[in-house]
Amino acid sequence: MHNQAIKDIVIVGGGTAGWMTAAALSTVLNGRYNIRLVESDEIGIVGVGEATIPMIQRFNRVVGIDENEFMRETMGSFKLGIEFVNWGRLGERYMHGFGRLGQDLATVRFEQYWQKMRLAGKAAPLEEYSITRMAARANRFMPPRFDVPNSPLGDITYAYHFDASLYAKYLRKLSEARGVTRIEGKITRVTRREPDGHVDAVELENGARVEGELFIDCSGFRGLLIEQALETGYEDWTHWLPADRALAVPSESAPGITPYTRATAHRSGWQWRIPLQHRTGNGHVYCSRFISDDEAAATLLANLDGKALAEPRLIQFQTGMRKLAWNRNVVAVGLSSGFLEPLESTSIHLIQSTIQRLIDFFPDRGWSAVDRDEFNRQTRFDYERIRDFIILHYHLNQRTDSPYWLECANMAIPDTLRQKMDMYRTHGRVVRVDNELFSEVGWVQVFEGQNMPVEGYHPLVDTQSEEDIAEYLDGVRGVIAKCVGVMPSHDEYIAKHCAARKM
Ligand code: FAD
Repeated sequence: MHNQAIKDIVIVGGGTAGWMTAAALSTVLNGRYNIRLVESDEIGIVGVGEATIPMIQRFNRVVGIDENEFMRETMGSFKLGIEFVNWGRLGERYMHGFGRLGQDLATVRFEQYWQKMRLAGKAAPLEEYSITRMAARANRFMPPRFDVPNSPLGDITYAYHFDASLYAKYLRKLSEARGVTRIEGKITRVTRREPDGHVDAVELENGARVEGELFIDCSGFRGLLIEQALETGYEDWTHWLPADRALAVPSESAPGITPYTRATAHRSGWQWRIPLQHRTGNGHVYCSRFISDDEAAATLLANLDGKALAEPRLIQFQTGMRKLAWNRNVVAVGLSSGFLEPLESTSIHLIQSTIQRLIDFFPDRGWSAVDRDEFNRQTRFDYERIRDFIILHYHLNQRTDSPYWLECANMAIPDTLRQKMDMYRTHGRVVRVDNELFSEVGWVQVFEGQNMPVEGYHPLVDTQSEEDIAEYLDGVRGVIAKCVGVMPSHDEYIAKHCAARKM
């Protein structure tokens, strides 16, 4: 039996989700499908979402993006991790660095040897065993060097910060060059066909009708097709992640562009700081049950490290996910499919992983229900596991200075997270289930950074003598410090390879 190929794909929305989808599909589908994207300049895009995680490099490779050109065009900077300030206790800080910790020794993971020595009071802080964390602290950056065998320089793992509007523009140029047609206009009506209830067209304010077979809903929080037309339903997770608002404001760049995002916890939320070449992006994510918008704005403005370049802009959200990301012939990508707050910069990754999944389960006119169900199962798994990781940051706090943090510390948590915490508490173990996004290294850094009590370590660590382990840890730490010493500063690297033209 031959596939009955669909021909017409309509992407609704031209934010990060819409243009990432257009760029990926126009590359992978090789000109064999008709791809149109409808967006409205009048409505605009959400305009935040400027920090990423290393998986984005995979997207850039598939789409064929030249890194230096991309960084220049989006005023980008490099990102080696996220610095968390005030999350365990007030005044504490730790870095969640990308990439690995230490170097393998024998049977068990590096962190286990470190844990034994830490419990014995004989280990240096965990970050001294991570090249990305130490480089970030020293404001240094370079891509990995794979030509130096067994060197931590080969372990440098990084992502990007970029200007969200320039990113959408950059991807638009690339997608249009690969045959995507952009249609400007405001969608005022969505029509559906009988008997299967598939969306068959979107109608614009100017009377135009755009028909299609596969619709990709990238319309942002409003979920124009997946919710307003198909009434798919939304699962609310605000009982675990109660923040429901953010205020965003750009500020003048501070000297020395830091190669990491910063997340500083305040009394009723937290503030992001994303350094770019031409400005710094800032925002205060908070819970409106605990703080007013005015107080939240005052906190945000009082904690900028440069002059504010605009008035703070309010964005409201509800944490959770769409009950089905794929319903009938509509696939939701981006904010239309759900929202997890940006604490670990995961939304753009969720866009990317949903696009990859759409490619894996690409439909034909048979619209296989089994494929769609598997797509939805995997999307849910992705969302739920990232959700748990973000909840951990809130739940594992020892702050006593505000009702918000006390509520987070005392709240009931999902069973899947409870199991991860119990397992870490007993033997410092983390099990990565089914290729979930965050690996052992990510979980360990947050557990340790936020003072998770640990009772023991993997019994097989004791097959090595304490002297051997101490020598090994010292060796790893020394090599990492040396490697960081040969890296250029982040500013120097940008100036040499990808400095944007002054605006
Ligand atoms: P939008 O940008 O809202 O785009 C929606 C598009 O649909 C627009 O083009 C709009 O014009 C169009 N549209 C809507 N209605 C109509 C209509 N009727 N007719 C025609 N067109 C229409 N993610 C990260 O990975 N890292 C971060 O650091 C990060 N920070 C964030 C901070 C905050 C406060 C928030 C709220 C989100 C953050 N995100 C972050 C998430 C990230 O911003 C989004 O995942 C990303 O921008 C994708 O948005 P989108 O394209 O789905 O929606």
